[in-house]
Amino acid sequence: MLCWGFGRRDRGAVSGPRADKLPHASSKAAVLDAIRAAGTISRVGLISVTGFTAPTISNLVRKLIDEGLVVETGHAESTGGKRRVLLRLNHTSRYAVGVCLGQGVMTYVLTDLTGIVVARISRPGVGVEAPATVVSRIAAEIPTLVDSVGVDRARLVGVGLVFPGPLTGRGVAGLNPELRHWREFPLGAALEQATDLPVVLDNDATAAALGEHWAGGFGTASAAAALYMGSGLGAGLVIDGITYRGPSGNAGELGHVCVDADGPPCWCGARGCVEAVAGPAAVVAAGRADAGLARALGLTTGAGPAAVARDFAAIGRAARRGEQRALALCERSARYVAAAARTLANVMDLEVIVLTGPGFAVAGSVYLPVLRQELHTVFSRSAHPVDVRLSRSAATASAVGAAALVLESELVPFHRGLRVSESLDGEFAPLPGSAR
Ligand SMILES: [Zn+2]
Repeated sequence: MLCWGFGRRDRGAVSGPRADKLPHASSKAAVLDAIRAAGTISRVGLISVTGFTAPTISNLVRKLIDEGLVVETGHAESTGGKRRVLLRLNHTSRYAVGVCLGQGVMTYVLTDLTGIVVARISRPGVGVEAPATVVSRIAAEIPTLVDSVGVDRARLVGVGLVFPGPLTGRGVAGLNPELRHWREFPLGAALEQATDLPVVLDNDATAAALGEHWAGGFGTASAAAALYMGSGLGAGLVIDGITYRGPSGNAGELGHVCVDADGPPCWCGARGCVEAVAGPAAVVAAGRADAGLARALGLTTGAGPAAVARDFAAIGRAARRGEQRALALCERSARYVAAAARTLANVMDLEVIVLTGPGFAVAGSVYLPVLRQELHTVFSRSAHPVDVRLSRSAATASAVGAAALVLESELVPFHRGLRVSESLDGEFAPLPGSAR
């Protein structure tokens, strides 16, 4: 197991306008993140981006090169003086595994240090399997993924795991009816023990938002959200480049925004939640209730998230083809989802909303125009529009985000709720055999 220590914290020299805005847990993490975000950048560029002094940047870059995380890569175009040496991440120096635990399908990705997917496998979903059995399965399937592309397991930073339900810190809340047997299961700790790797646990929407942020899908927005449609509805928030999770990791529960005070009861205990009124299960229930449509699309009567996902995909595909009754169901759902999204945009002053997750992967092109239309009337419109887009990787977004989650957590950790005014310098433990 790798050990990334952040125990030693020396005060480094910091100057410039940006230094008091860096939220990273160490100045080295801030520099590594700045190189990641830039792609390639010179030391002078890093001074400008981070606000650190030249000696601090020189020292930190040397350490990152010694640890094999960063390499020099050619020269910038000359601006009259000496050509500047460019730096980039050494993308094959570390890898991360992202796992999206789904009841219908399990998605595994292996990403390099920059978050680029280098291997991907799908396996049958967990259905109603016992949590301990699922953990054993994941621990057995990760080596298959890693070995499929010949990556040295010693280069794994850890495992990011996303779970499609509420969390309680390192465990699973198990509040959803179909996930009740996961209640209070210490998923993070159990998988850590089974894999001997650090494990970071998060919900699907937050992971998808982080994946979108790493892939550049939010552009330069300082307040952005990923709307995630899986078996339910959720949102992940990225504010000033940082995922906002809330104290228990349950921020952005868009599915439980009330859109009808007298609406149907929701499994969360409230009434009229958008998920209960217009989420995938509600769309499927309405589709199944229309005998003609159900027959035409081959909708089932099966319960459970896997059957709902299958039938929602059938309705979404029919809506895309222009089948009027399927289109009407999706457009009705989209208006309610848009109402909840407008609430989120108003509360968080959002600039960008990206639609992602398996539900939007199949029906996103039907939802997109409705959301765009409805978000014209957001309160902040005189200051800025809200740009609504479809994710370029909606189907695998949360697994990719899970891998980004572990890279971020292990390599570029952030202070929670704290803005540092001075650099706190941490030390990485180098990998055995990495260049010194
Ligand atoms: Zn609810």
